Amino acid sequence: PFEYAPAPESRDIANLKPAYRPFINGEFADGGGEPLKSVNPATEEVLAEVSTASKSDVDTAVKAARRAYEKTWGRMPGAERAKYIFRLARLIQERARELAVLESLDNGKPIKESRDSDIPTAAAHFFYHAGWADKLDYAGYGPDPRPLGVAGQVIPWNFPLLMLAWKIAPALATGNTVVLKPAETTPLTALVFAEICQQAELPPGVVNILPGAGDIGAELVGHPDVNKIAFTGSTEVGKLIQRTVAGTPKKLTLELGGKAANVVFDDAPLDQAVEGIVNGIFFNQGHVCCAGSRLLVQESIVDEVLAKLRYRVSTLRIGDPLDKNTDIGAINSREQLTKIQELVDSGDTEGARRWTSPCPVPERGFFFAPTVFSDVQQSMRIAREEIFGPVLSVLTFRTPEEAVTKANNTPYGLSAGIWTEKGSRILWMANRLRAGVVWANTFNRFDPAAPFGGYQESGFGREGGRTGLEAYLDV
Ligand code: NAD
Repeated sequence: PFEYAPAPESRDIANLKPAYRPFINGEFADGGGEPLKSVNPATEEVLAEVSTASKSDVDTAVKAARRAYEKTWGRMPGAERAKYIFRLARLIQERARELAVLESLDNGKPIKESRDSDIPTAAAHFFYHAGWADKLDYAGYGPDPRPLGVAGQVIPWNFPLLMLAWKIAPALATGNTVVLKPAETTPLTALVFAEICQQAELPPGVVNILPGAGDIGAELVGHPDVNKIAFTGSTEVGKLIQRTVAGTPKKLTLELGGKAANVVFDDAPLDQAVEGIVNGIFFNQGHVCCAGSRLLVQESIVDEVLAKLRYRVSTLRIGDPLDKNTDIGAINSREQLTKIQELVDSGDTEGARRWTSPCPVPERGFFFAPTVFSDVQQSMRIAREEIFGPVLSVLTFRTPEEAVTKANNTPYGLSAGIWTEKGSRILWMANRLRAGVVWANTFNRFDPAAPFGGYQESGFGREGGRTGLEAYLDV
């Protein structure tokens, strides 16, 4: 019988020491890799020492996943798999407070975001996919679609548990087994999830979690006995992975970077639009692949929008991620902070007009004040490159045609936003914007039933919805 987790309240989070070690074949193992320190980016203190996987651990984990695929998971009726996946979803809910606190400590994101967005959305993803496990005949891939086998999955640091959910839930629902590598700076909630797999009595080897750096990701991607690779991360690493996978029979999906345009027309409900612009770029410190990092404003209203925007942004509170009033938490690492600073400096050098929020910024920890650049030209680096931080670049347009041309002037194509009162204009724009997701009069909305993914250098394949199952099935 299934035993529930101890109530999260009963655990002293400050002394929380789950096994921060590789999780292989249902057990926490001593990893053969160099130990890594996970740092709290808000204090620069070491949160946990993590034992990492070695290359031979990758092989052991893939073998365990293969055995589990052949002996249990791949043969189990969908309705049985669903029971386990529902358990995982419920356990995430039960341990939600612990997961939210740990996510904010490890990643730096405000607790109100991990509490109200990351963790519940991760649980929702498992609930949604549990519902598919016994209905794959209806997924549109013909009767009896088959799992691919062992999935190798590599994820980034910006939404650690949520990205894990996006990867693991559809793989398990479709009968695949998993070896997943979390990002090196945020491995902790993935290892609590490993504990949750034990609590759910998931058969050994169905889920394996290997903390480690990029070399362990590369080893997993190159392993000859992995059938499918799912990667979320930078376009640069995505291209490396594509090269490794080329010439093998592995299936591949890539969720990469972005430089989304958020387009505001002069008839838009401006106060609502300003909230959407702020959410679009400052949510999760701007560490969001689909962040609305290029604001395109119709020329006639640019002064009004900038005034409202600066006023609203100056009210955002930067600081302790665990304070529930904090709007902007810490940048995930010193390396990312340096990258943001370098791109902001390029904006100054190239002649854009910089405005920085006057709100106080903590001295210790990795923090960056919200920044808005106006007078931005399309040729500037801040208009072309993904900054992945709380920095907005504002450009203008006159006509809808010009808005589309400017919005599409990017090698990426992950998301876009449109703000207007005119329904016909929303449809006209949406049909012309080259982006996998188009939001209208809102931004950064996610639902497990909605396929998410990119065009062009933002990658290929979709996660979520019926379409997302396709990446894990043979017809
Ligand atoms: P990254 O590419 O540096 O790292 C991502 C993961 O890949 C990490 O786990 C890393 O250890 C691993 N890795 C590094 N080198 C590897 C290699 N050679 N082979 C295999 N794995 C390797 O990206 P990041 O800095 O962690 O994340 C930020 C990027 O992720 C941004 O570009 C962002 O836009 C993108 N992202 C995309 C989505 C999406 O859904 N499209 C979602 C979130 C983040």
